[in-house]
Amino acid sequence: MTNLSTIAGIKAFGPSGLERLISELGEPRYRAHQIVRWLYGKGAGSWDEMTDVPASLRQRLSDRYTLPVPTLLDRQVSAVDGTRKYLWGLGDGATVESVGLPTPERLTVCFSTQAGCGMGCSFCATGAGGLKRNLAVGEIVDQVRLVGEDFGSRVSNAVAMGQGEPFANYDAVMGALRLMNSPDGLGIGARHLTVSTCGLVPGIQRLSGEPEQFTLAISLHSAVQETRDELMPGVKASDLHQLRAAIVDYTAATGRRVSLEYALMAGVTDTPKQIDSLRNFARGLLCHVNLIPLNPVAHSRHSPASTKRAAEIVRLLDKSGTEATIRTERGADIDAACGQLSQKHVGN
Ligand code: SF4
Repeated sequence: MTNLSTIAGIKAFGPSGLERLISELGEPRYRAHQIVRWLYGKGAGSWDEMTDVPASLRQRLSDRYTLPVPTLLDRQVSAVDGTRKYLWGLGDGATVESVGLPTPERLTVCFSTQAGCGMGCSFCATGAGGLKRNLAVGEIVDQVRLVGEDFGSRVSNAVAMGQGEPFANYDAVMGALRLMNSPDGLGIGARHLTVSTCGLVPGIQRLSGEPEQFTLAISLHSAVQETRDELMPGVKASDLHQLRAAIVDYTAATGRRVSLEYALMAGVTDTPKQIDSLRNFARGLLCHVNLIPLNPVAHSRHSPASTKRAAEIVRLLDKSGTEATIRTERGADIDAACGQLSQKHVGN
C-alpha cells in the first residue's frame, strides 16, 4: 500500500496524530488545535497563512510536510435539482468523486473514503474499477470542506456513501469524521455524520465502541445469503447471521437506530421470497429501511423495480412493524446518484 504521508503530507494525520506530532516537537497541545483550524476550518493552502502559529514551528513543519489541497478536475451541475458532482485530483494522480446535495434547509455532502473500491458489488460502477488506494484523513475532510466552499454555505450533513468501503479504511475515516465534527474543523454534529458500510462486521463492532454518536447505515440489498453473495462478493466473510447479530449488539450498546439500505432490482431483490427474508431480517431490529430505486449503470445486468412494487414493499414492511421509506434519488442526470459514481471514470 502506498505511503500516505508521502502523498498527503500533513493531511495524513488525524486529530490525535497531530497532537502526538506537536508534542514530539515540544509544543503545547493547543498548537494542534490551531493547525486543525487553519487546515480545515479556514482551508489554508500554505503554512505562511497560519499567522498565529510561531514562524519557527511553521518552518519545522514545512521542512517535513507538504500541505496539499485536492485539485478540482471536473464539476457537473444537475439541471433537475441543483445537485453537484465533483471530480478531485490528489497528489499522486488518484481521482475521487464527491457529491453536494442542496435543499433549502440543508447541504449534504456525499464523500469518498477510498480511491476506487475493492468490494466488487455487481450493481456499482465504482466496484467495477477495483481499489486503487485508501484515502488519507485530510483527503477525506477536504472533499466535504471544498464542496461547502463551492456552495458558499455551511455543510449540515456528510455521508460516507461515495467511492470506497469506509470500514476498509477505518482509522482514516474515524480521524476524518472527528475533524468534520470538531469545532476547530467543520463543526458538523456527530449525528449528522453517517458511515455507510456494505456490512463489514468487525467495523460495526469497532464503531459501537466509539464515543461519538456517528450514524450507521448498512447496505443490505438482499437478506437471502446466496443473492447477497452474488451481489456483494466482497462481504462474503461476514454472513447475514453475523451481520444481524452485530446490528443487535450495536443498537444495544449505542441505543442508536441503524439504516438498512436496500436497492430494488427487478426480479432480483424485489421478489416475494426476497421481501419475506427482508421482513424477517428487519423484524425486531432498531432500524429503518431505506428502499433505493436502482439507478441506470452502464453495462449493468440489473434494472429497477417498478414504483408500484416499491410502494407495496413499504406496506409489507410496515405490516411487520418495520418503518421504511423510498429514497428520492437526486442528480441522476449527472450520474451522481447512488451506485453511479465513477461510471464515467472507470479505468482512469
Ligand atoms: S457499493 Fe460501495 S462497497 Fe460496493 S463496490 Fe460500490 S463503493 Fe464499494
